[in-house]
Amino acid sequence: MSLDVLLKRAFHAAGGLSVVRFRNAGSNRILTYHAFDPLSLAGLDRQCEHIRRYYNPVSLDAVAGFVREGVSVPRNSVAVTVDDGYRDFYLHAHPIFKRHGIPVTVFLMTGFLDHQVRPWWDQLKYAFLHSPLDRVVVRTGSEAEKHFSLTDEASRRNAAALTGELLKSLSNAKRLAFLARLPELLQVEIPDTLPWVPMSWNEVRELASQGVGFGAHTRSHPILASLEAEHEIRDEIEGSRDRIGQELGSPPLHFSYPNGLAGDIDDRVRRIAGNGGFRSAVSAIPGLNRHMEDPFMLKRLSMDPELPMPYFSRQLAGFRL
Ligand SMILES: [Zn+2]
Repeated sequence: MSLDVLLKRAFHAAGGLSVVRFRNAGSNRILTYHAFDPLSLAGLDRQCEHIRRYYNPVSLDAVAGFVREGVSVPRNSVAVTVDDGYRDFYLHAHPIFKRHGIPVTVFLMTGFLDHQVRPWWDQLKYAFLHSPLDRVVVRTGSEAEKHFSLTDEASRRNAAALTGELLKSLSNAKRLAFLARLPELLQVEIPDTLPWVPMSWNEVRELASQGVGFGAHTRSHPILASLEAEHEIRDEIEGSRDRIGQELGSPPLHFSYPNGLAGDIDDRVRRIAGNGGFRSAVSAIPGLNRHMEDPFMLKRLSMDPELPMPYFSRQLAGFRL
């Protein structure tokens, strides 16, 4: 091993992390979580401890004030967000964040809470995990056909994830048409209630009374830029906003773009979100947030309770962003 590599390793071991953290101290970090496996809660607890030790947790309202108006936030500020509205947040994650005094904003896919829509990625996961087939050919129309073997759980999960990526490139209508054919393709009935359930509105109200913030995340979680008509985009964004307002008594102040990468948010989507009465909108574009940046294109860092701590701590410090 060269001296150079040894020196670099020593630098990181001795405090490279703290150097990067210091350099990024004036910027804000927003973390994104989705699901919380009951077996991963020790990992979440360690991540919360790390946040408490090295960072200053703040609410998303505080981040919006900082980015929009320059209202000061503590150095090394971190806001935590959770997308989609799964019940595992209520059951497992909320008590941990609460114990550590870390504020959380949860973005709700309101059609999911209303039991009108099953998340499309969960339909895929269920169908691939429960199919009696041991191989399948997937044709989404836009790509050459893909052959998947379904011989064990890992290959099934992999096939579901890769098919999900293919679907993200389709128009919304084509994605829905593919999902409608899914039971036939995989010869499996997809139940109305999948194993991955949403919170109830009563649980949302209970959490709101304990200080959890709630934001809008559309009704059915389409990739908004893949919708052809502007009224569909408006219906998804404003429909979820109004539904939360009905259930909680006041409209949500923040919005989260489904999938949230740059190609998922076109000018129409940005404009409708910006005019929707929100204080901010969060993307999935990785990065840190500074004063005077677009409050409707806030960047986030994708996290998961199962991430190894060295990776978690490097991401949080702002390495390679
Ligand atoms: Zn989502």
